[in-house]
Amino acid sequence: MAIEMNKTVFIIVDGMADLPIKQLKNKTPLDYAIKTNLYRFLRHAKFAYPTVLGKFAPQSDSGVMADLGYDPLKYSTGRGWFECLGLNMQPKDGELSIRVNFGSVVNGKLNSVRTYMSKQELQDISDEINRKVRVGADFEFKAGEGYRAGLVFRSGKKAFSSFVSNNEPGYTAKFFGNGVKLSFATGITDKRIHKIRAVRKEAEYTALLLNNFVSKANTVIKDSKVFKERKKKGLDLPNYLFLRDAASKDPRLCDINEKYGKKWAAVVGMPLEKGIATAAGMTLVDTIEEKDIRKDFYDKAEKTVKALSKFDAVYLHIKQTDAVSHLGKFMDKYAIIESIDKIIISQLAGALDLEKDTLVLTCDHATSSKLKRHINSNIPVMISNKKFGFSSNFSEASCLKNHISEIKKAVGIMPFVMSI
Ligand SMILES: [Zn+2]
Repeated sequence: MAIEMNKTVFIIVDGMADLPIKQLKNKTPLDYAIKTNLYRFLRHAKFAYPTVLGKFAPQSDSGVMADLGYDPLKYSTGRGWFECLGLNMQPKDGELSIRVNFGSVVNGKLNSVRTYMSKQELQDISDEINRKVRVGADFEFKAGEGYRAGLVFRSGKKAFSSFVSNNEPGYTAKFFGNGVKLSFATGITDKRIHKIRAVRKEAEYTALLLNNFVSKANTVIKDSKVFKERKKKGLDLPNYLFLRDAASKDPRLCDINEKYGKKWAAVVGMPLEKGIATAAGMTLVDTIEEKDIRKDFYDKAEKTVKALSKFDAVYLHIKQTDAVSHLGKFMDKYAIIESIDKIIISQLAGALDLEKDTLVLTCDHATSSKLKRHINSNIPVMISNKKFGFSSNFSEASCLKNHISEIKKAVGIMPFVMSI
């Protein structure tokens, strides 16, 4: 008879951690939020308060990698790889995979790095770019969601190199040994528009190609049907492509199922998280990123519970908390955390066997809703299992006060959880 394995649900709430906010009685949104259902898990829980990347403010790619047990400083070859993998573009070693934003430039100065469009508009404009841009290299441009797209150069006149800068302001690429590349959220400090630069001589061809692509694509965008129709309607106009985090190498994440001897599923909605989960060997559960937050949470909770019948462990990613932080909406942020408790945590309390299963609740990085950007603060982690004693309110402050010493870095969370 097969022994039924203990189940694990690992929830990453994007950018959940924050700084204290005056209007929230000097509490963070997580602290301020009423989390009635979470108390069922806090009866037996331990807290951790690890750093993600030390002094650097992480992007979501490095934060999620670290949470799932993959050291970004060892594995990351550039976020573009995961973005394009998550968009089903099947990037390969030697190709160049890039994350793209549709944005706008007015009078030579940055206006926006995010011009939201409908799914159809994004699709139509991406089709035109594929049809009309000619740069002497094979490429595929694929629409994502909102203002996002993926770009893969399949082959060119010379070899591609990922040693190029981003033209998206706010994210600075840094290069480490062994081809490790990470980019950090440094914030937008000025409104100048920068070209993509080669950081090493071997990347000169790639930088030239990318700048040529951006310039030609910008012309196609301004001549596109979508642009003209949006102009008639008085909507925000995209006229500039911002590229970041080009990757030319498979990060080769080891298979998470084999590593821990558990079968993993992922309930995630966005291409980046889909890409990381796929690269880790997880099975993707089909989800649609619902616009309506409550609907989205009901859908994800239901899919997580369903996945538990077939899998030993589920990675669930909740995106909305980061988006509102970037907009400075801290009232929305605590309200979303309360909805997570009401809709998702409550259903998990019913579905998990609290005598033996494990629930992890954490985030990929802190996002300050006052500064409207990612920050380098440590992240709160709750690990709930019957083996542990009682813990009180889950917040940044309580994790700081009372945390286990075994998990100093986010990359240590997963091995600890899998060893329970
Ligand atoms: Zn994030």
